[in-house]
Amino acid sequence: MPAAYDQLLAHHREVFLLGSTSALLGWDQETYMPAGAGDVRADQLALLARLQHERVTDPRVAEWLAACEGDAQVMADPDRIANVRGLRRDHDRATRLPAALVAEIAATESRAQQEWAQARARSSFARFRPWLERMVDLQQQKADCLRRDGQSRWDALADLYEPGMNAADLEVLFAPLRQRLVSLRERLSGGDRPDDSFLRVEIDEARQEAFVRAVVTAMGFDLQRGRIDRSAHPFCTGTGGDVRLTTRFHKDNVLDALGSTMHEGGHGLYEQGLSEQHLGSPLGEAVSLGIHESQSRLWENHVGRSAAFWQWCWPVAQQHLGVACAGHDAASVHRAANLVQPSLIRVEADEATYDLHVMVRFVLERALIAGEMPVAELPTQWNALYGEYLGLQVPDDRRGCLQDVHWSCGLFGYFPTYTLGNLYAAQFAAAADRALGGLPDLLRRGDFATLREWLRREVHAHGRRYDPGELCRRVTGAPLSSDAFLTHLDTKLSEVYAL
Ligand code: ZN
Repeated sequence: MPAAYDQLLAHHREVFLLGSTSALLGWDQETYMPAGAGDVRADQLALLARLQHERVTDPRVAEWLAACEGDAQVMADPDRIANVRGLRRDHDRATRLPAALVAEIAATESRAQQEWAQARARSSFARFRPWLERMVDLQQQKADCLRRDGQSRWDALADLYEPGMNAADLEVLFAPLRQRLVSLRERLSGGDRPDDSFLRVEIDEARQEAFVRAVVTAMGFDLQRGRIDRSAHPFCTGTGGDVRLTTRFHKDNVLDALGSTMHEGGHGLYEQGLSEQHLGSPLGEAVSLGIHESQSRLWENHVGRSAAFWQWCWPVAQQHLGVACAGHDAASVHRAANLVQPSLIRVEADEATYDLHVMVRFVLERALIAGEMPVAELPTQWNALYGEYLGLQVPDDRRGCLQDVHWSCGLFGYFPTYTLGNLYAAQFAAAADRALGGLPDLLRRGDFATLREWLRREVHAHGRRYDPGELCRRVTGAPLSSDAFLTHLDTKLSEVYAL
């Protein structure tokens, strides 16, 4: 009879295999699946989700965990402690949720997401409202099952995505950040607006594709252990030796394709950088959504929107994009890539206003989950906050509170991980700059391997060994703050806007 620890890990490896199979089917659904396969695909995914939930909540897991926690030999080994702690967390969380509630949420999500798509197409909040009310109610029930010791409902949900995160700590981070970003936005409006004509040059998709592939390969994304395909909304899925990135192309905005691909490439490097030895155990898994997003944002913004990167990248762009580059140069394209323009749509937002979009959602979803704001008031409150934070008038709900899919899928407590990702990214980039003797020199030479290997060592290789907050302190020597992010934006944009 193998020891409890070995049984626990072998059992969890099957959970991992089921999860990675679901991910692959999900990737196929967004890329190559014929439309007629939709119904059977939904059944396939539902079956895999049920099998996965059954395995995680298997009563034998509780017995193995108890045996491991009482075994002095297991608890003397840091790797085993980390794996047992991770699996304890997963098991406790899953067993707190009644199977009937899990099934009801899954079924409602699927319908609510379709209703949301219809409502958004018609810009009709009234149509989505009953579904959102149902979803808020279900998420409140879920939070009541999960929360412990006076924890708020929102905090219980947010902890699913970012272990240890809570609204009070976020408020301390976000309140001053919001003020500084609002005043930065106002200050830039008096500066020298970059010429953004390069963003409107029409370029053949095949050329764009060759260009972004050259960049993401130079970043070190390993095509022997991953693929790049196309989808309507770019994403990254898979892990270890099979990481799938997707990207998209607009005829007249090659920088959108480049930014999206570098972003997903950053996610992909994290997955490819996880420990192969620990694949299928918590030590071989990403620690949180915020840390995942830090890896994508670091490559997209701290590398891809830097002046040094464009000194390396411009000849590569000229080689692949040809005549489209005439009349532009590395400096002008760097400025165009850093245009700041408040906009209504979060996914199209620039680096300096993006987090203001997140903060609107942070305020509103807490009020919804706490039951302090009726769903019916959402459009009015949404529009008021867009006026206050971004200085914009929202013309309709399609470009307002109906723009994101998240709430229809039951993702409450998720949005702040985007801003956490931006803050972690800036703090990691500053730490890398210090440790490696200056990032710009490396980027100018196209030496991305030094940064990538540093990230692998400092961040990727640890998997779930440390909580995100502890990982941040270990990598950067300080707790998470918005200082590095604000310094990064102030320095770069003052130069771009000649302020
Ligand atoms: Zn991302």
